[in-house]
Amino acid sequence: MRSWSLCGELFLTAKAQRPAKMSQNMSRIVIAIGGNAILNPTRGSPVEQQRMIDETCREIAQIIRKGYDVVLTHGNGPQIGNILAMQEECGLVHPQPLDVCGAETQGMLGYSLQQSLDNRLTEAGIKKQVTTVLTQVIVDESCSSFENPTKPIGIYYPENRALRMMAQGIKMIHDKKGYRRVVPSPEPLQIVEIDLIKKLIKGDATVIAAGGGGIPVIRKNGLLVGIEAVIDKDLAGSLLASDVGAEVFLILTDVEKVALNYGKENQLDLDEITVSEALRYMKEGHFGKGSMEPKVLSALGFIKKGGKRAIITSLDKALPALLGTAGTRIIA
Ligand code: ADP
Ligand code: MG
Repeated sequence: MRSWSLCGELFLTAKAQRPAKMSQNMSRIVIAIGGNAILNPTRGSPVEQQRMIDETCREIAQIIRKGYDVVLTHGNGPQIGNILAMQEECGLVHPQPLDVCGAETQGMLGYSLQQSLDNRLTEAGIKKQVTTVLTQVIVDESCSSFENPTKPIGIYYPENRALRMMAQGIKMIHDKKGYRRVVPSPEPLQIVEIDLIKKLIKGDATVIAAGGGGIPVIRKNGLLVGIEAVIDKDLAGSLLASDVGAEVFLILTDVEKVALNYGKENQLDLDEITVSEALRYMKEGHFGKGSMEPKVLSALGFIKKGGKRAIITSLDKALPALLGTAGTRIIA
């Protein structure tokens, strides 16, 4: 049995090697777009989400214009939470299992990103095809997060509603803001469609893959079967970045820099940190569990496997961060 943190450690201790087939491309960059950053879980509307996606894609089109070979991935926390809430509210149709809800968010956000980036590239006079790959990711069903889920997703529920849901067997946690559903979040082990993704990249497409961390699946007697969980998109993005031989793994979220003493009076924003500094700060508890910690862990995993640079910054700072004038860089 593995706990999530142990899964995280496994992520860090993964073999420090690059795939033999795809050598490191000096201008390849994997960009992970935060689900919360494009949709505020409580205030965000579809119009707002599209506006954030359009702005982000404008930035990404500029990165492509500079000659970078971009592969995109994205989170889905608020979006999958909304699907679950809609299912519960309706009560008239059978709810879909969590892996299917994850697939829905890949289609929904893949569509929005694909169309928006296509439009922004057209506006910038760049001829390039954008495509979304519905991506499955293998997980280990013996990961302890299946027995003891701790990953909160979706909206906060009022107490009476939460108690009813818990009576139906839905696992929830209670924090200072209220009750939230928790689900298993196993470590991503292998991207099922990776060879296809590499072929599309080689064919000069801009690929959107492993959205929402990928659809969690296991292999049973050699066959793929969906499993009810969500995968952390930062960890899956890191795996994708290593698999496609990216030089840079760029994580876009809603803060410009990673900070020490985050949210406190003595907050200190970081410009550049080494792997060993990041590990020390992580141990000291500077990075929020389930928010900044998986980003830093993913950055470390990427560097450990031979990536050159990981950068964490806000959606609107993607290009300046790549040019070294914004964000937090994590280097060997
Ligand atoms: P995303 O959807 O982009 O993954 P998250 O909410 O999961 O967004 O993670 C980003 C959040 O991490 C920020 O909004 C911030 O509140 C939080 N955070 C926690 N620790 C830190 C830290 N040390 N420095 C900066 N942000 C932090
Ligand atoms: Mg997150």
